[in-house]
Amino acid sequence: MSLPPGSTIGIIGGGQLGRMSAMAAARLGYRVHIFTPEANSPASQVAAATTMADYTDHAALTAFAAAVDVVTFEFENIPAASLQILTNLKPVHPSAEILAISQDRLVEKDFLNKAGAPTAPYAAVETDADLAAAIEKLGLPAVLKTTRLGYDGKGQAMLRTTEDTAAAFAALSPKPLVLEGFVNFACEISVIIARSADGSIASFDPVENRHKHHILDLTLAPAPLPLGLLAEATKLGRLIAQALNLVGLLAVEMFVTADGALLINEIAPRPHNSGHWTMDACPASQFEMHIRAVAGLPLPPATRHADAVMKNLVGPDDMADWPLILATPGLIAHHYGKAEARLGRKMGHVNRLFPKGSLPGEFGIEAALKYK
Ligand code: AMP
Repeated sequence: MSLPPGSTIGIIGGGQLGRMSAMAAARLGYRVHIFTPEANSPASQVAAATTMADYTDHAALTAFAAAVDVVTFEFENIPAASLQILTNLKPVHPSAEILAISQDRLVEKDFLNKAGAPTAPYAAVETDADLAAAIEKLGLPAVLKTTRLGYDGKGQAMLRTTEDTAAAFAALSPKPLVLEGFVNFACEISVIIARSADGSIASFDPVENRHKHHILDLTLAPAPLPLGLLAEATKLGRLIAQALNLVGLLAVEMFVTADGALLINEIAPRPHNSGHWTMDACPASQFEMHIRAVAGLPLPPATRHADAVMKNLVGPDDMADWPLILATPGLIAHHYGKAEARLGRKMGHVNRLFPKGSLPGEFGIEAALKYK
């Protein structure tokens, strides 16, 4: 069943992903109601209504559910009990089951491998003895991660030698942890998939992602890789969306190994930073696809009318250049409305388009993003 215009879409989370989803929803005639603990959040600045309350405030969640027609979310760390309250009262897309899988790296990896989507080798680590056994099994180097609440490289440590292990184990919390074999990757890519309740799927072209200080810096669309590999990445993304019985949007991050194999790093059942290029290079962006999928609207094909490079604007340095960015022809600027450009905070992004099929090489990309 599709939601008529004038209906209200509830979004849990007030960040930039909620903001851009809300803007897409407004264009389709929907009202958006944001639930966030943050005052003046990026999303509530562009939404019809906001509930400002903690994610554990059950009375506020109940009232929020009563005020909306469908619930979705823009981040993953929502307590299970809160999701249960919402699920009892209104349709929640993607489902609480999918969110539970994506909230826990160990559950996620078990799910992916069972579904036929391979990951790096891994082992659960709760104790010192588990860690020793995991290192015995996977070898070093390896990456030790918290199973929950990690993002942008937080909650993880690289283990190069056995001397690194005790301090890393002690420092990482919350426990339990997971040890992953180190992937000697050639590059990192992602695929974004939308899926409706009727099982129809739209998948954006796979893109390459480059990080700086563990934060996404650049996305290249499409990923400059052989077509066969891109098709394989899309196939894996679709497989995962189907195995999850997804209704909504899903980002799948993958490693391309040195010998051209694909390993899934992680999944996120929401709009994703690596999909921001779609706002300017596709007729329907990832945010519109997200809203369409949760509102039960038809999904248009996720076609790309241009090649694109997306660059994140991270605080504080990139924002000092905002006036220059606005004055540079060809840069399509997006600002998230955050007041404070704190170190490492994602403040906005720019997209630059190229005629389809003519994404430039390394030097061309650098030149195309120059504004100083
Ligand atoms: P994550 O928080 O799992 O997305 O990891 C953040 C970044 O750390 C990834 O984008 C990779 O660049 C790197 N990384 C994570 N896991 C591994 C691994 N098993 N092997 C090599 N690099 C990794």
